[in-house]
Parts: sequence; structure tokens; C-alpha cells
Amino acid sequence: MDNNFSKYSLCDELTKAISLLNYTNPTEVQSMAIPAILQQQDVIIKSQTGSGKTAAFAIPVCELINWDENEVQAIILTPTRELAMQVNEDIFNIGRFKRIKTTCLYGGESYDRQVKELKQKMHIVVGTPGRVLEHLNEGTLNASNVGILVIDEADEMLNMGFIDEVEAVIERISTTRTTVLSSATFNKKIDKIINKHMINPIRIETNQQANIMNNIDYKFYRAKEADKHILLRDITMIENPDSCIIFCNTKIMVDDIDAFLYDSGYSCNKLHGGMEQRDRTAIMNKFKLNEFRYLIATDVAARGIDVDDISLIVNFDMPDKKDAFIHRTGRTGRRGKLGKAVSLVSEIGLQSFALIKDSLNFDHKLLTAPDAETALKASESFYKKAKIKTEIKQTKGAKLSEDIVKIHINAGKKTKMRAVDIVGTLCSIDGMTADDIGIINILDISTYVEILNGKGEAVLKALQTKNIKGRPRNVNIADVIKAY
Ligand code: AMP
Repeated sequence: MDNNFSKYSLCDELTKAISLLNYTNPTEVQSMAIPAILQQQDVIIKSQTGSGKTAAFAIPVCELINWDENEVQAIILTPTRELAMQVNEDIFNIGRFKRIKTTCLYGGESYDRQVKELKQKMHIVVGTPGRVLEHLNEGTLNASNVGILVIDEADEMLNMGFIDEVEAVIERISTTRTTVLSSATFNKKIDKIINKHMINPIRIETNQQANIMNNIDYKFYRAKEADKHILLRDITMIENPDSCIIFCNTKIMVDDIDAFLYDSGYSCNKLHGGMEQRDRTAIMNKFKLNEFRYLIATDVAARGIDVDDISLIVNFDMPDKKDAFIHRTGRTGRRGKLGKAVSLVSEIGLQSFALIKDSLNFDHKLLTAPDAETALKASESFYKKAKIKTEIKQTKGAKLSEDIVKIHINAGKKTKMRAVDIVGTLCSIDGMTADDIGIINILDISTYVEILNGKGEAVLKALQTKNIKGRPRNVNIADVIKAY
């Protein structure tokens, strides 16, 4: 395979997925982390999202998984539910052809659903510390075979007050494990975790942050707090971005700006921690697919969220800390593209502006608001664009799914259906081999099987007349998998 990942001697299944994901060259962080983790060395990654950090651990973790082993072998902790879902999706995509089973555990979602999933063959779990610990304590997650622990975005995990849970999870996992820790910044608390729980870790640091920041055009506007709504409207009309995230410091402000922009005719939605998890997930997915242009969010959305081509970031409120500023604005200017980041600085934000300028060596001046005439002129093309439907994007894993069909069999655990029964029947179909069978999910009264390599239709036809476990079964297409 003419792919620069071939030097890692990964299995064919991973190599195929990596190439369908269009990863041709390892990023800087990947070229350092992948060989080290494959050697099962402890690794500390100091790097931003956008650097390919997730795949830097996900690729070697997937390679190290022993598929035949039914118990969980790797636990990945993330600070937010959104990041957990995203890491889970990346692992699902990378491990697709190796048939890696992965699941997400986080609060705000049915505990029973998670327990049921954990009862099945499961190789990797990704989750927030509290819920992972709950499953460990309840005995619904067995850590005795876990050989790899990843603590992703450790700094944020500690900022969010998860330190005790993180430590409790670490202590439940065998000390012979490999531990990977990623963090954008380091402090005493993180050093304490490193010193206590990691063995001779290799430190990996990249200059990615400088590269990302060079791709962003930063602007700071001075405004009175009470005038910021109008300034936001004027600036977004002038910039007229294809997609934009507007960050606020509080949920109430997010609600307020969302209502204000919606009333002004914007294609917008909101995301904050006070919303139901189901709604948060749905909004994030719609934003990733480009179904609407403006996302108004608190910092929940800042960490890890990997959406391509965000052309404009607005700090409606100045963040208090330099790190939050970097994370928010780092949602644009990704992968060599140019981005814009506009911050509105009121009297409340002046101190943060000074701090950010100082710590990032910025020499930016505060700009005055654009005049009303310029904004009015711009509004014409803004509303013209607002009338045009956004172009729906493909998901990252779409190419992987092109040749995969998921079938549903009307029988499951209650009728003692086992994976071996399914595999046996499928392999008896002309032209089918075990390599054409993807992930098998056996639920109480249903079974889902992915058929790979474009053989779904033929299998479906054959199963209309073939017995499975001694009987004909009702078999149909569950879903032509478009996305994860
Ligand atoms: P992350 O830093 O993990 O948030 O990754 C940022 C984005 O880069 C994600 O969309 C990944 O799918 C993508 N990515 C990761 N590794 C590579 C690679 N080697 N080549 C191209 N894209 C990549």
C-alpha cells in the first residue's frame, strides 16, 4: 500500500480503513506517538486538537486489540460527552474492518443501554470519568483485561473537577497497563498524576499550535456590553461566513444570542451543558453535516470538536483564560486552511484581552465597530445567502461505509443466537468468506450484522431461503450505513 503509515506494519484491516479515511501521511504527533504506543510505552502528548492527536492513540490502540478476546482491553477517558462520542466515532472508523467493538459511556444517557452493550463482546470503551467509574463500581464494566488507559485532555478533565474520578479509574486498572495522557497544558496536578501513575513516559510535544495560530486572522472589537448584540449582527453580516461558532461564557447568554439571531433570520442553533444530551448530540451532528451555519455555544463545544471548514469564530464574551481562547479559536484555520476569529471586548472583557495579548505575544489593537452603512450594505448579500440551503457534507467515515450493508435478523439472545451461528450460515453462502463479515451485534430479539465488500445484496437474497440456526429467519436491510 503506497501509504506512509505502512512503516508501522499495521494489520491490513487498519491500513485499509486509514487509507479510506484519506490519511496518507502521519501527522507530526502521530509519527512520534504511534511507534511508542505500539511498543507499549507510556506516552505523554502535549498537543492541540486538530493535530491528529486522536488517531495518534486510536491507531496503535486498535492495532494492539486482540479481537478474539471478548473483554474490554482499552479504556479512554475524555472530559466531555461530545468528545467521548467523537473519539468513539474515530475509533469505530479506524477499527471498522478489524471489527473492533467500541462503545461510549457517559452520563445523561440510559444506564441500561450501556449495561446491555457491556454484556456483549466489547474491546474498547470511551467515556467520561464519572460514568466509567460507576460501571466499574457496579461491576458492569470489567477492567481485569484492560491493558491500555488513555487519559485524553487531562487538563480539561482536572479543570472540570474530575480528578478524583480519574484517579479512582486509574487505580482500578492493572499497573502493568500502558498509559497515554494527552494535555494541551501542564500543571502541578497533572504532574502529580504523571509521577504517580506513569512509568518512564515518553514526552511528545509538537509545534502544531504555532502553525494553527499562523493560519488565523484575529480581530478584537471594542464595544459596550449593551451594544454587543448589534455588533455581533453587523460583523457576522459583513463576514457572511459559510459556517461559524459563536462562543458565550454562560448558558443564559447562549439562549439569548440564539433567540436574537434566530429572530434576525439566521440559520442557527445552540449547544450548552444545560440541554438534554439527546438534543446536544443531535445539534452537534447537524452542525457537522453543515445543516445550519451558526452554532452558539459555551465551552462545552470548544474542546475536541472536530468540524471541518469553520470559517469564522466569534467570542461574543471574552474567555477568562488563554487556553480557552486557543481552544475556541482553534476550531478554525485547521489543516492548513485560513480562518478568522473575532472577539468582542467590552469593559468586562478588557482584563482578559490584556492577558491574552500578553501571553500570546499579540500586538493587536482594539478596533471600533464597523459603521452602520457598511453593515446595512452587507445585509443584502447576507440575506441572499441565508435563503440558499447549505450544502450537506459527508461524514468522515462515509467512504468506509460505501461497500457496507447492515442487515437485521429477527432473532437474538433470547433464541440463543450466537455469533458462530451467524458466521457459519454466512460463510456457507457462495462467494462469502469470514473477511466479508463486519461487526455482529446480538441483542435480545434482534441481531445486526455488517456485510462488507459490496456483498450485502447477495447475502440478503441468499438469507431469504437459508436457515440460520436451524430455522428460516426474517432478514432485511437494517440500514445502509451512511454514517457512524
Ligand atoms: P484531532 O486532532 O484528533 O481532532 O484530528 C483532527 C482531524 O484530522 C480529524 O478530522 C482527523 O480525522 C484528521 N486526521 C487525523 N490524522 C490525519 C492524517 N494523518 N491525515 C489527514 N487527516 C488526519
